[in-house]
Amino acid sequence: MNTTDYFLSLIETDKRSKSGWYNIVCPCCGCDSNKRSGSFLATDTGGFRYKCHAHSCPYSTATGWEPYSPVSQRVFDLYELLGGDTTDLVDPPFYEDMVATIGFAAGGSDAEGGCFAAGAAV
Ligand SMILES: [Zn+2]
Repeated sequence: MNTTDYFLSLIETDKRSKSGWYNIVCPCCGCDSNKRSGSFLATDTGGFRYKCHAHSCPYSTATGWEPYSPVSQRVFDLYELLGGDTTDLVDPPFYEDMVATIGFAAGGSDAEGGCFAAGAAV
């Protein structure tokens, strides 16, 4: 199991768009409304992207993960919001040279506040 597999084990995978995105209730902002504003994509490279379509949501700025990359704080937060145990993600393979090659391609800065940092009700 890699990080993407752990996420897939937690999300509803029955609502999938033609482009391959899973439409889920955003665990950060959508739990009350039950709207499927969250989009989760497992990438061809074995990583994933997550983005929420609610503009006020901290996850409206995409986050994600790729194999051989470190897991960012926002990804940890997202996993916890989904009900996961973040210790699952603590020891992914991590090789600095691979990170330098792949880089972080989730789009946008991952330094922006996550759900917890934004003070959203969870
Ligand atoms: Zn959201």
